[in-house]
Amino acid sequence: MTPRGTHRVVIVGAGLGGLRVAEHLRRQRYTGAITLVGDESAEPYDRPPLSKAVLVGTMTDTTLAKDIPSLDLDLRLGTRVETVDTSDRSVVLSNGDRIGYDSLVLAPGAVPRLPAGVGVGGGVHVLRTIADSLGIRAAIADGRRLVVVGAGFIGCEVAASARRAGVDVDLVERLSLPLVQVLGEAGGRRAAELHREHGVRLHLGTGATPVTGPDGVRAVRLDDGTELECRDIVYGIGVTPDVEWLAPSGIALDDGILCDSLGRTSIPGVFAVGDAARWWHPLLGAHRRLEHWMSTTGQAETVAHAITAGDDIAVPTTVPFFWSDQYDVKIQGLGFVDPSDDVRELEVDGKPVLVYSRDNVLRAVVGFSVPTAVLPLRKSIMSGVDVDEVVARLTE
Ligand SMILES: Cc1cc2nc3c(=O)[nH]c(=O)nc-3n(C[C@H](O)[C@H](O)[C@H](O)COP(=O)(O)OP(=O)(O)OC[C@H]3O[C@@H](n4cnc5c(N)ncnc54)[C@H](O)[C@@H]3O)c2cc1C
Repeated sequence: MTPRGTHRVVIVGAGLGGLRVAEHLRRQRYTGAITLVGDESAEPYDRPPLSKAVLVGTMTDTTLAKDIPSLDLDLRLGTRVETVDTSDRSVVLSNGDRIGYDSLVLAPGAVPRLPAGVGVGGGVHVLRTIADSLGIRAAIADGRRLVVVGAGFIGCEVAASARRAGVDVDLVERLSLPLVQVLGEAGGRRAAELHREHGVRLHLGTGATPVTGPDGVRAVRLDDGTELECRDIVYGIGVTPDVEWLAPSGIALDDGILCDSLGRTSIPGVFAVGDAARWWHPLLGAHRRLEHWMSTTGQAETVAHAITAGDDIAVPTTVPFFWSDQYDVKIQGLGFVDPSDDVRELEVDGKPVLVYSRDNVLRAVVGFSVPTAVLPLRKSIMSGVDVDEVVARLTE
């Protein structure tokens, strides 16, 4: 039964996951109180455009909800939740307020990593917030050279957007290929070709150290001593779940907030979604954090359902989906992509498709602008079909 009346849900983190939980609660006719607390001052906004349209300069407003008042929220922006007290079911805010909850949803997201001894400022950038994105945009607006360190999705997207904005780009990666850690060798080779074709200078298999002067960054030094002169560096070397502040709460943490497949944490009444949450995935037989937009929205719907319907709901069997836009290519992935799986490289309609399998069972598929090859495979991945059958179908 839908909890009503004096029931209160407190949501920590007013990003994608937090907002979507609130929206799904209202959609599922939850009439109790919802307090949404976010430490950023902006209304909830979308992050994918930050490394794409905002950097290119074709978009500045990525606000997610066009009509926040209709959700009837107790919205606390510019306010951080400092502590969670699970014994009396309350949270304490940075302004000293204590708010009681019946259900608590944690959606604090993640924070970008930086090498030890390196801090943001003086030409050193990371990319997580709208302010970060506008800061990079302003720095590259005059077309000056940009060095991107880390060729994961964020680094590759920044490199692509900067090239589209007419900027001279060097992309430095410690591993042998861009995206190799997420897609494996075959995907990494395709990504390398794509960036070279668009004029990005790749520096692979090397570390990078910022060289600073009195005015901030003046170069990046590679392991062989080469110096790439630049005034700005964007680090895209991964993120850490923003959960340190939860350590005293007693909620089980292990590379994120440990959750079952309904988003329930180790403490009754406390749920978690999004980049900080490490859910149990029945299909994978493991806990995994998924730093993807679609996973966050799916988790938000499940958690809202778990709050409104109690423990009676069925565990949804879902297959993760992600996308990444680089130049005019949309990379789309379905399933638990694991570079250590067997990877077959196909051409479908002249575009690269990577098929991942283990013990001949289909596990995931990644396409470079081939949605018709990727999206219909959801059921095949869920039921674990023979990979030869799928390859035959894709190439017939
Ligand atoms: C630049 C960029 C590009 C991306 N592009 C893609 C893409 O192309 N495709 C894709 O699938 N995914 C993409 N993603 C990933 C996607 O945006 C994330 O998976 C999604 O934003 C996760 O939502 P979240 O709610 O967990 O975290 P967030 O959206 O980060 O929201 C968390 C919020 O909680 C706040 N917070 C943290 N701690 C507290 C606290 N104690 N009290 C109050 N507030 C707190 C944070 O400041 C933040 O505002 C991208 C992400 C970034 C950063």
